[in-house]
Amino acid sequence: MPNDSETLQCSTHGESSVTYVCEHLAENPAQRWHCDYPGQDTPWPDAWCDRCNVEFLKQGEWNDANQGVANIKLFCASCYERSKGESIAFADPASRKRWSAFVSDCCKELEQKNEQLWKRLSLSSYKRWDWNQDTAELVFSNDGVPGVVARISFVGSLSTKSNTWLWAWANFSLVDVIRESAIAIREYGEKEGFASLTIPKWPATQEDGWHMAAVAARVLGAEGAYRDLTCDSWSSLMFPRMVERRVRNHAETTVYDGRDYSQAA
Ligand SMILES: [Zn+2]
Ligand SMILES: [Zn+2]
Repeated sequence: MPNDSETLQCSTHGESSVTYVCEHLAENPAQRWHCDYPGQDTPWPDAWCDRCNVEFLKQGEWNDANQGVANIKLFCASCYERSKGESIAFADPASRKRWSAFVSDCCKELEQKNEQLWKRLSLSSYKRWDWNQDTAELVFSNDGVPGVVARISFVGSLSTKSNTWLWAWANFSLVDVIRESAIAIREYGEKEGFASLTIPKWPATQEDGWHMAAVAARVLGAEGAYRDLTCDSWSSLMFPRMVERRVRNHAETTVYDGRDYSQAA
């Protein structure tokens, strides 16, 4: 089942890249998806359900003996992303409860951290802040003079156009160093069974976006979080370590490219 540049005609999305999912996921996406994480060359890895996974594990691969069980369907890439996002709704009541307690705990913690950080470094006294993904720095400045430089990690972005959250680890428009720092969040989600941290893109509100920033701050041990409001989407950037480099020399000013690295959708 190769992922290549084949296309199909979707009644909703028009011409779209082809993906492959088992017939059970195609019919009812709100269940566990067995598939690899997306990669640069495989943005929509082949996916199958729990039931099909039993057969997959018996053979250790898909072959003539088990392929009939899965009845693999051709699926449009946009439908794949939407359906996989819907699988987030699949969680038993106990893990749902554990997840929401964890989120609210992280939010309280982030609120305190941010308050302390802003006060300690007088961040509200700066008129401008710019971030640069190549240097992984956030610079607070006044009239072109940088004051505080912070080391940052990019967590993810919320699109208010598509109302979706996209984790940085699945956003291949980001440079590797930035994207890879978010993988620890996904690994934490795997360990704890928190689907919101392991599904690349899912339906989300602004509040969800802020919740994910709070969770990421906890997992990455960040000192605070920052939202970059660009156009109709925003990104969460963390300060794993605040670099208290008070810049006095004009010559140290870095040129920022001003590109928007949030999700394009
Ligand atoms: Zn299946
Ligand atoms: Zn479609």
